[in-house]
Amino acid sequence: MQRGFIHSIESFGSVDGPGIRFLIFLQGCPMRCQFCHNPDSWKTGVGEEWYADDLLDKAERFRSYWGDKGGITVSGGEALLQIDFLLELFEKAHQRGINTCLDTSAQLFTQKGVFFEKFERLMQVTDTILLDIKHIDDEEHRKLTRHSNQNILDCARYLSDIKKPVWIRHVLIPGITD
Ligand code: SF4
Repeated sequence: MQRGFIHSIESFGSVDGPGIRFLIFLQGCPMRCQFCHNPDSWKTGVGEEWYADDLLDKAERFRSYWGDKGGITVSGGEALLQIDFLLELFEKAHQRGINTCLDTSAQLFTQKGVFFEKFERLMQVTDTILLDIKHIDDEEHRKLTRHSNQNILDCARYLSDIKKPVWIRHVLIPGITD
């Protein structure tokens, strides 16, 4: 059993995936977005430690609010930093019939090695992805976040290939949305 480092929890979210959702914010983020509202979520290895079963027990107390579409959303920080915990949480959520949504910047995405093996398994138990593309232009993305957006766009292409339901968030297109 994995332990997850949790930044915070919100029991009632209405804009972070389909329907009403229980929100779990994982601790740790490799990005350094200029506009970040939660820099206290950047540091790894801190926060409240939870086991997946306990977190799901807590989430299920709010199940009556979820209706047909709702469930749990895991965000951050950057949730993929704790992919082992995330995988266990979503696999157990699906065993309980809970709808799962992952909110990610996909900064860590790669189609190589162990990470990709875990990511493919994760996608089998992830119902919806909220993909945060901070800027569509790579140079501007680097200025905003100190990172390239190339692996984020690779992730978007991969998710499109496997036909995963994706909500694109926070995209800034020069002259249109900025
Ligand atoms: S990805 Fe999110 S949590 Fe991380 S620095 Fe950017 S805005 Fe903050």
